[in-house]
Amino acid sequence: MKYIIIGGSAAAIQAVEAVRSVDQRSSIELFADEETPLFSRVLLPYYVAEELPKKLLNFRPLTFFEDHEVISHLGVRITAIDPDTRTVTADNGQKHEYDRLLIATGGRPIVPPIPGVDKKGIFPLKTMQDAENIFNAQGKRAVVIGAGSIGVESCISLKRKGMEVNLVEQLGRVLPTVFDDQASSIIRKRIEGLGIKVRTGEKAVRFHGNGSVTSLSTSERDIDCDLVVMSIGVTPNIELAESAGLDIGELGGIAVNDRMRTSAAGIFAAGDVAETQDIALDKKSINAIWPCAVEQGKVAGLNMAGKKVLYPGSLRMNSIGNFIGQPAISIGMVNAPVEEGGVEAGEHYQEVVRSSQDTYRKLVLKGNRIVGATLVGDTQKAGIFTVLIKKQVNVDEFVPLLMSHKLNFMEILPLIRRYSDKFKEIEYKELMDTGL
Ligand SMILES: Cc1cc2nc3c(=O)[nH]c(=O)nc-3n(C[C@H](O)[C@H](O)[C@H](O)COP(=O)(O)OP(=O)(O)OC[C@H]3O[C@@H](n4cnc5c(N)ncnc54)[C@H](O)[C@@H]3O)c2cc1C
Repeated sequence: MKYIIIGGSAAAIQAVEAVRSVDQRSSIELFADEETPLFSRVLLPYYVAEELPKKLLNFRPLTFFEDHEVISHLGVRITAIDPDTRTVTADNGQKHEYDRLLIATGGRPIVPPIPGVDKKGIFPLKTMQDAENIFNAQGKRAVVIGAGSIGVESCISLKRKGMEVNLVEQLGRVLPTVFDDQASSIIRKRIEGLGIKVRTGEKAVRFHGNGSVTSLSTSERDIDCDLVVMSIGVTPNIELAESAGLDIGELGGIAVNDRMRTSAAGIFAAGDVAETQDIALDKKSINAIWPCAVEQGKVAGLNMAGKKVLYPGSLRMNSIGNFIGQPAISIGMVNAPVEEGGVEAGEHYQEVVRSSQDTYRKLVLKGNRIVGATLVGDTQKAGIFTVLIKKQVNVDEFVPLLMSHKLNFMEILPLIRRYSDKFKEIEYKELMDTGL
């Protein structure tokens, strides 16, 4: 058996480990067009903030490829896949054969067509090179465009580095797809408390400067700047899959089944490039977060090596706490659908909220199951919500308990016992470890 893996990040590395856990003998070749191996993107904002040195960014030891007997081709881009001859072509012209192929090419930052966007000093934050560009940028005034998770983390990193920072977001609140209005306004106050100017409802319309960026015009004002971080969002790198004729999903990710197989024989996909069934939303989604990439990479790798393992579906989870100095977590659905008074496709939705000045807790219920949880301030029990959303069990009479501060493991035990067929021992332990 010959395995080829395209990608060198979360999904790819997890797939290598999964394949090797079953098959220690076959050849694995891995291609990644980034030269820096095994670094965690999640930690890049800490590097930019000068809080973590480069050598602490790795999520696996640098001996990983050797330890797992993987032939690694770093800095080599795959330019084509031929599913008929089962070969891939690299940018040096060489062709390589596979029996099983994993596409774990992730996503790339969206660059909007704003006039002047090609000026020097404007960067995305995705690769190690991007992080170094931002890290080494001269000047004292930064603008971050886009107040999603990466944008918020970037602006706080730049502030910690000592810069004057403006955060520009065209929608009406920070973290608009991750937190609801109330949670978002608590987080906004925190960000502003750090000395960052938050400009929501403002659109970036033009960058100025002779060569290098010197200012940004938004729909409301002009902002002087020497550095711009663009964090509008990411789009899946599907070009290889698309030109090989693989099915692409309606959201623009590679379509996979519940074993992470694509529409072509022997080809799997995992991570930010794949479109999967979202457990909470009960529809297709591209949940571009590290834990989903890891889990999908593992399921893909095991199936590539001949095991029959099902992927239970993805679940969005975002945490912003380390950055704003107050824990804030959002899992699954952010807001209950408002159509026809909380009824969508015959399903009743309900929001249960408890809030104080600095804390906020909200559950989104679909019938008697939890499909969304938002916790700001008091997040200690977040693990239980993740598990309950994943398991989609009836929590009806437990809702008051789940909303209370005093939740403990003994009280939740009857719920777990009732659905003991759904909870594996490891999950049981996970729940106990959440500090319930
Ligand atoms: C700054 C930042 C902060 C983040 N913070 C968080 C966080 O706090 N929590 C969280 O859960 N997630 C976070 N994420 C998202 C998380 O990093 C991604 O979900 C995760 O990296 C996805 O892993 P992946 O393996 O699918 O793809 P990627 O990490 O995107 O890697 C894709 C790989 O494919 C390679 N590649 C692409 N095309 C080719 C080709 N044609 N030939 C060869 N190689 C190719 C690339 O070199 C790369 O190695 C963050 C992302 C960024 C950028």
